[in-house]
Amino acid sequence: MSIRDEEQQLEKLGAFEISNEMLKLAQHNKKSNIFLNAGRGNPNWINTKARLAFARIIEFGAKESSRTISEGDLAGYTTLEGIRERLETFLSPKTSEIDQFLIDAVNYAHDTLKIDKDEFVKELVDGVIGNNYPVPSRILKHSERVINAYLESTLYRGEKLAEQTDLFPTEGGTAAIVYIFNSLKENKLIKQGDKIAINTPIFTPYLQIPELNDYEMVEVDLRSDEEHNWEIQASELDKLKDPEIKAFFAVNPSNPGAMAFDDTALEEIKKVVAEKPELIIITDDVYGTFVDEFKTIYSVVPYNTLLVYSYSKLFGATGWRLGVVAVNKENVFDHLISNFSQEKKAELTTRYSINVLEPEKMKFIDRMVADSRSVGLYHTSGLSTPQQIMEVLFSLTHLLSQEKDVYIETSKAIVNRRYEDLFKGLNIEGNASKENSKYYSLINIYQLAEKIYGSEFKKYLMEQFEQVDFLYNLSQKNGVVLMDGVGFGSQPGELRVSEANLPDEDYEIIAKQILELIDEYHQSFLQQ
Ligand SMILES: *Cc1c(COP(=O)(O)O)cnc(C)c1O
Repeated sequence: MSIRDEEQQLEKLGAFEISNEMLKLAQHNKKSNIFLNAGRGNPNWINTKARLAFARIIEFGAKESSRTISEGDLAGYTTLEGIRERLETFLSPKTSEIDQFLIDAVNYAHDTLKIDKDEFVKELVDGVIGNNYPVPSRILKHSERVINAYLESTLYRGEKLAEQTDLFPTEGGTAAIVYIFNSLKENKLIKQGDKIAINTPIFTPYLQIPELNDYEMVEVDLRSDEEHNWEIQASELDKLKDPEIKAFFAVNPSNPGAMAFDDTALEEIKKVVAEKPELIIITDDVYGTFVDEFKTIYSVVPYNTLLVYSYSKLFGATGWRLGVVAVNKENVFDHLISNFSQEKKAELTTRYSINVLEPEKMKFIDRMVADSRSVGLYHTSGLSTPQQIMEVLFSLTHLLSQEKDVYIETSKAIVNRRYEDLFKGLNIEGNASKENSKYYSLINIYQLAEKIYGSEFKKYLMEQFEQVDFLYNLSQKNGVVLMDGVGFGSQPGELRVSEANLPDEDYEIIAKQILELIDEYHQSFLQQ
């Protein structure tokens, strides 16, 4: 097979699959360069505080459990009475910052959220020990308060929505997305042939899900492009007014564009919803904390919006699988279901009748929990309790921080300096707007080539080579793996660099390798 045929085969794969192929090539690259994978979004930092606190609660939990039964490694269950006092006796806040954090956490839960201290400690302890099914299965009682406070503080920019928001923690944002799609379909809120709008370029799973036979949805591009710094334009959002569009899925800040919707775009969404009060919006705000003064769509149109958040990126916790779905207690999903015809309602009543006595009154979010375990296994649904407590502890690191959350500021500074190094190395202007999360950047190889060697050379690159050729050579010759932007619905020639997953010093090297390879293409251009 010729290189060109091989590349055409490659172009049929998804962006993540192409990236896997590139990894193999890069590991044995021709120049024997160090192998650099800037393709993945997995961060190379972690939050230590919450993890150490988790370990500390397990230690206490094991000791606490031995109070009721203690026969070798076999211990009993914990008891509520006096548990907070025993925890405080167990901890040494004077010598351990982590122990002090746990004491502060209990005080915060009590003073700010008005949660009983013993009950809070018991939920944490039993949660990490994991000796009971998650009850209530949707989310542990006090955990919901803490996670809501975290989401409000980090994503809502001052809007007070914590008290009126229901949460469902899930196995990462990925499971949240799957559950949402599934329940929208099961509850007939979206059906075959419905138009669904998505803001492209977008995280590939979103592009791929609508193409699955299950959904057969039509994509409507709400393209944000480089010309506008990847900022979505109001005129594009106007497309949402199309009466055939039932739902809008947004990734905000976007991936790979990395830009958050600005206030003008948020205002536009508000106007659209005023005209189309039954519009369904799903917003994935995984990167929200990487933008100063971020504001989610959920805080602008809470009635219409399902919010997805994941702890994966900020806390370096992809292996934990920690995500959450947030839905307003008053919402369009319940409203639409309650307005269904008798016939449609009856069908759904049958579906959930084994779960609850009055299925017609079952909230959409609870239907999602039931659907996540195929209805029949609703009684053993819910995210594992240790995972829920890990979400609580990550949330508390933020809630207990003073004025500025130093951890969040540090994570932003990291991606920021890598972004600066990359752009400086490429000798091009970065995007300094405040909506830029800088978690990813899109580098347009054709534009870069044109800027350095002129438009004839750019034409040569575009015409003589497959669009993955540059990516392919960057891997197999130079040992640098980037992600193909086309797979995300972006323009040919755009490569995604992740500022999250390589040591700082590598970003300058990546820039150098990109320029070196462009130069090699230019040599062959001159020799034609
Ligand atoms: C990384 C990422 C997620 C996170 O997924 P997890 O399953 O929580 O690891 C969700 N959405 C987008 C757009 C992402 O880039």
